Amino acid sequence: MAQPPISRVDLPAPFVTQGPDGRTLVPGGSVYRPPSEHDSLLLQVSVGCSHNRCSYCAMYRDKRFAIRPLAEVEALLAAYATQPPVPSRRLFLCDGDALILPMARLVPVLQAIRQHLPWVERVASYGDTRSVLRKSVAELQELRELGLGMIYHGVETGDDASLAAIVKGARRDEVIETADRLRAAGIAHSVIVLLGIAGVQGSERHASATASLLTRIDPPFVGALTVTPVPGTPLHTAVAAGELEIPSKFGLLAELRTILAASDFSRCRFSSNHASNYLPLRGELPRDKARMVAALDHVLAARDEAMLKPEWMRGL
Ligand code: SF4
Repeated sequence: MAQPPISRVDLPAPFVTQGPDGRTLVPGGSVYRPPSEHDSLLLQVSVGCSHNRCSYCAMYRDKRFAIRPLAEVEALLAAYATQPPVPSRRLFLCDGDALILPMARLVPVLQAIRQHLPWVERVASYGDTRSVLRKSVAELQELRELGLGMIYHGVETGDDASLAAIVKGARRDEVIETADRLRAAGIAHSVIVLLGIAGVQGSERHASATASLLTRIDPPFVGALTVTPVPGTPLHTAVAAGELEIPSKFGLLAELRTILAASDFSRCRFSSNHASNYLPLRGELPRDKARMVAALDHVLAARDEAMLKPEWMRGL
């Protein structure tokens, strides 16, 4: 079955959890996971995002960040253990940045997964520069040995000015250090970049800096998404006020072309098939680079919107 290219999933009622003050933290609400984890078991070890400040992100604005009590996580795992294994034999830790959990909490969570669900072959999580750099290579190796095999990292751009503008909480040099630590620990690094995030004004700078960053960190997986101004976010406010102009559909594809053409990978699965994108592409780099760049050149030359995904088919 083809993977659904959307990130949002609605959790069923058993995910309802209470905070220590009796407040409902997650009323069976929505969580986000990478589309490539669509067939993974979801284990919510935290609620929301501890950063929750990125200018374009509305995913967790309605959630107060909290780490779920270990007893709750173990109870969920015990319930999962009564069910057959998921065919993928993979598990994804939710919410936004589960890797922010301290080692004193992550280690028992991974140990409990091993104990209750011995069939799990790989655990993955979102993680960002802040959460990875709080851990040493030795600590990341310990997590790797306990099953953590993949980190999805929203890098968004290689341009320092844009990183500051979107309040990403990370600089380019810190992204590089993050990649180096994950590689040293043997954890696969899946990088997300965001087309259009610097607006028309910063478009070329964003694309070329992102290409050079990707070349430097050489991740095995890259996913390109397209920025979507969501009401309630600072990005949406800036766009509505005319302070930032999102590039046109073809301007976004021109960014993608620059990122693809100007980057250099030793071995990378590169995709733009997320629901937010206007043109889904997927390939193994460097093998498929010429084909993918040619496909973009063809669409950019034709400038025919009929060749693009219609607006109603896009999503987050
Ligand atoms: S770190 Fe990720 S989840 Fe948190 S605010 Fe930024 S984009 Fe959203």
